[in-house]
Amino acid sequence: MSLEKLANIIFKDVDKTPEYYIKKYPKRNLKEGAKVTRYAPSPTGFQHIGGIFTALVDERLASQSEGIFCLRIEDTDQKREVQGAIEDTIVTMHNFGLDFNEGMTGEDTSKGDYGPYKQSERSEIYKTFAKDLVKRGLAYPCFCTPEELSELREKQVAEKITPGYYGEFAKCRNLTEEEAIAKIEAGENYILRLKSPGREDKRVEINDLIRGKISFPENTQDIVLIKGDGLPTYHFAHAIDDTLMRITNVIRGEEWLSSLPIHIQLFEVLGFELPKFSHVPTIMKNDNGSKRKLSKRKDAEAAVSYYKEVGYPTDSVKEYLLNIINSNFEEWREENPDLDYHKFPVELDKMSKSGALFDIVKLNDVSKNVICKMKAYEVYDRYITWAKEFDKEMYDLVTSNEKMCKEIFNIDKEGPKPRKDFAKWDEVKEKIFYFFEELFSKEEASKVELPNTLTLDAAKDIIKVYMEKRNTEVTCQEEWFEDLKQIGLDLGYCAKKKDYKKDPDSYKGMISDVAGAVRAALSHRSNTPDLYVIMSILGKDKVNKRFKSFIEL
Ligand code: GLU
Repeated sequence: MSLEKLANIIFKDVDKTPEYYIKKYPKRNLKEGAKVTRYAPSPTGFQHIGGIFTALVDERLASQSEGIFCLRIEDTDQKREVQGAIEDTIVTMHNFGLDFNEGMTGEDTSKGDYGPYKQSERSEIYKTFAKDLVKRGLAYPCFCTPEELSELREKQVAEKITPGYYGEFAKCRNLTEEEAIAKIEAGENYILRLKSPGREDKRVEINDLIRGKISFPENTQDIVLIKGDGLPTYHFAHAIDDTLMRITNVIRGEEWLSSLPIHIQLFEVLGFELPKFSHVPTIMKNDNGSKRKLSKRKDAEAAVSYYKEVGYPTDSVKEYLLNIINSNFEEWREENPDLDYHKFPVELDKMSKSGALFDIVKLNDVSKNVICKMKAYEVYDRYITWAKEFDKEMYDLVTSNEKMCKEIFNIDKEGPKPRKDFAKWDEVKEKIFYFFEELFSKEEASKVELPNTLTLDAAKDIIKVYMEKRNTEVTCQEEWFEDLKQIGLDLGYCAKKKDYKKDPDSYKGMISDVAGAVRAALSHRSNTPDLYVIMSILGKDKVNKRFKSFIEL
């Protein structure tokens, strides 16, 4: 009776019962095996690449099973909240092709029958379940001040015993209802704690879909359920939300693994069925030989915004993450080069259990493959979309030379082994700048790259002759090369490596040096696509102009 009184005093405005909510959010009517997953970010304004990683797993599993993928906003830590973060999350996820079936659709809007989808709007629900726990003697108000708690902690640490609020140390656990009511009526501040039924000598076992069977000692801590501000802790909200939203699969970062015993206990005392748990590995980075977490402060690539700024197509990032999610993705991709990644079946039991290593070299590799498969017009469209926001100069140059740029982006595209020039859009400028007079003419002589067997003077001598003698009427690569070769031979360069090796003193160098000189004159770079193609795109006049200015360099 007095427990009931205590519950009514603490939660005087709560007039519903747990049954009301259980009924309000009935079991979903989905086909057998359909997974209901959720992405549950806190609206802090910073989106970590790990979020995309987890959301991709969530979305794939829901979609593969014809289930539901929800967006729930976990805003119970209101100090960390940032204006506009929800909208930003939704837009970012959408750009990654991750669209939600249910949940928040904007700062204050949502869709679906299992809402509210923002925790700060679910206060009534949490209180209803908390009230019930108080009534059943499974939760109690705690009046300890922060000072008392830290004093307790210090004492426990000094005495080398497990720190925390539990058992004999849980002072308020043993207050009588009357004592508690008196304190509340006297206006003392309090929070609500779980009266943990756990025992130190007992263990709980659970099957994590990524990690397999794991077991822990039972939770004995009287953890906080409702904070001083009236909002729930993550633990309490997680148990209630995932149950009432009828989430079948909780997929979250491995940092939550250690609090799993708390969660299992909460589900039990609340009388809830456990969802299936999967704890995904943390994304790590190799830092001078040692592995560490990808850090928001130290690593630009931790932020989702980084990928957009430097211009990785979202597909590249996703394909790369799929590589981390399931290591057999790479093999699948090789066997199915043209299939959409949605066709790849993501499987939790194929996921690595240890930290997933983030490897930018691998990402670049994956991304080059993604971009090289795009048609030239697609590369053009995507590039200008990126450049419009991040490189205005290139945007103007490229859009005012659309035809030429589409030809450039089409170089060596159609063959069986398309060129892999770009991993991200911010690399495009350096790779194609020489096609634009405006950029090329600004380059200093020091940037000219020559084969290391050739001096600048020798290169100039080649160009002086090549400029005069070259056949401008050639119609294909072979003819063009024959012409260049002949000029080179006449100049004393050697066409056959073997001959040159036998008697290097009789030659000025190899024909490759002649091509290198032409390449340097036209592009200032030593690594470019086929010269014949470059010359065709530039056209006779520009080519001649470049030769002349090269000689004067
Ligand atoms: N809000 C929690 C986080 O951002 C969600 C964890 C979960 O998915 O349950 O870490």
